[in-house]
Amino acid sequence: MTDTDTTDIAKRRDAVLAELSAASETPPTLVAVTKTQPDEAIDAILATGQRVFGENRVQEAKARWADRRSDWPDLELHLIGPLQTNKADEAVALFDMIETVDRPKLVHALAKAMEKAGRRLPVLIQVNTGEEPQKAGIAPQDLPSLLQEAREAGLDVRGLMCIPPADEPAGPHFALLAKLAREAGLSVLSMGMSGDYVTAARFGSTHVRVGTALFGARS
Ligand SMILES: *Cc1c(COP(=O)(O)O)cnc(C)c1O
Repeated sequence: MTDTDTTDIAKRRDAVLAELSAASETPPTLVAVTKTQPDEAIDAILATGQRVFGENRVQEAKARWADRRSDWPDLELHLIGPLQTNKADEAVALFDMIETVDRPKLVHALAKAMEKAGRRLPVLIQVNTGEEPQKAGIAPQDLPSLLQEAREAGLDVRGLMCIPPADEPAGPHFALLAKLAREAGLSVLSMGMSGDYVTAARFGSTHVRVGTALFGARS
């Protein structure tokens, strides 16, 4: 990576933050999605002051962040990809928030892992707002029962997360997620990616997960 790329990352981040500020009086937190990014890109974005990061795989996140944690004690790492129950212990040890709780089995695996580790992380429930069969997330109509199960298991559920269908306008999905959160008394809304973070901010997003718009296209 050249110096120009490093400057580009800082400029792109400034541009994203400015757009988020223009879109909302309470702009969402920018979660920089670093999956597949090389060390140079990670170091460049850390140099801008960015401290909140999203990763979608446990092993990859560990390789990228486990050592950096000691140099950057104020890092905040979010798991934004599907979690297998057999990786719950590792995920609880590494991450600061799990955004992708979407089934009873995972609720119980995480509750057990957190108890074992003595570390109670905030979590989000992922909702499959488009009810796409291939996509992770709980169906909207099943959210109340999963939420109840998660709370009874002792999970600290803070809010909801969604990834709208790629081929539909995102706005209605963001509106639905906001409505579901309101009904459930939840305040955190993780919604908005590179193509739609401004729309998401207008619909009340509290966390946008942005990769490409910061780093350029993933290889
Ligand atoms: C990769 C990813 C993102 C970031 O996507 P971009 O379009 O590159 O901004 C956001 N959320 C999730 C769950 C992802 O897997």
